[in-house]
Amino acid sequence: MARLRGAAGRAGSGTKKMGGPSLPIEMVELTGKTRVYAVFGCPVEHSLSPAMHNAAIAALGLDCVYVPLRVEPADLPAAIGGVRAMGLAGVNLTIPLKEAAVALVDELSDEAREIGAVNTLFWKDGALCGHSTDGEGFWMSLEGTPGQSAKRALVLGAGGASRAVCFALARRGIEVTIANRTPERARELAAALPGSHAHGMPAEPEDLARAAAAADLIVNCTSVGMSPNDSESPLAENCIERGHIVCDLIYNPRETLLLRTAREKGALGLNGVDMLVNQGALSFQLWTGIMPPVQVMKAAVTGAL
Ligand code: NAP
Repeated sequence: MARLRGAAGRAGSGTKKMGGPSLPIEMVELTGKTRVYAVFGCPVEHSLSPAMHNAAIAALGLDCVYVPLRVEPADLPAAIGGVRAMGLAGVNLTIPLKEAAVALVDELSDEAREIGAVNTLFWKDGALCGHSTDGEGFWMSLEGTPGQSAKRALVLGAGGASRAVCFALARRGIEVTIANRTPERARELAAALPGSHAHGMPAEPEDLARAAAAADLIVNCTSVGMSPNDSESPLAENCIERGHIVCDLIYNPRETLLLRTAREKGALGLNGVDMLVNQGALSFQLWTGIMPPVQVMKAAVTGAL
């Protein structure tokens, strides 16, 4: 059986430590029976998924390994052919491959179809299925916080992550206002959401101030504020009040300027680490039938950040 031991594992002679952004892993005893999982992306070098999945595999003592594979967008059909040909046990897809994968699987889940993106490939009765765990991963990241009791959300951005978040919120009856630099994308997304309580608008200061004042939950789904541009914020300081729950999907830096402002105003701030961990845990559960130890995965992510 293959064994991946995390940092807490016993160091043995003849084992190899893998460095980079991953948790140090000692890799031993890979065999022909080892189940291989992968993340495809371009770039993929900085993905935190190998660290968190291999930490879960090590904690559970499974005969599995999870590897990052760089796949150019033009090569995605061939790479998915490789999943079939080589019998990879499961795959995650990250930027910029999630949308293109929709057309390349045998079956799509409802979530993947409505979001128009696939972040997880898994096998069901011999069929290669595409699913997205991003929306549920986001919702799980609000567990135990007042975020799950929100009535009105202001969502900043209308890209892939925003689609997953907006569907997760709208499906639960939360009124969603989407603000985006390109307002047509916000309006299109609002029109696609279930229920009749969503609308899209430009991300202009006055519109944002009005929408923020009416919202209890604010979610940043833009890349504004992400390292190295960590002096930027998608929302003016005066839009944030004490009662707000402010989620930033960004996890690098762990405290963005938006979240720092939220903290200084006495609002609740949540970064993207828990969403990252939970979407990964849901993929892992689909592949193995086991809900992995999310605290182990979170420790691997925060250790690697
Ligand atoms: P995406 O599809 O490329 O969408 C990017 C969004 O940000 C678009 O709405 C875009 O507006 C907006 N935007 C980009 N630069 C901007 C700027 N300078 N000013 C204003 N708006 C700007 O990306 P994505 O996949 O949705 O990812 C968005 C963010 O979420 C990233 O930071 C990503 O790291 C994070 N994320 C986190 C998780 C997690 O698990 N925590 C998961 C997925 C994504 P336009 O439409 O006008 O271009």
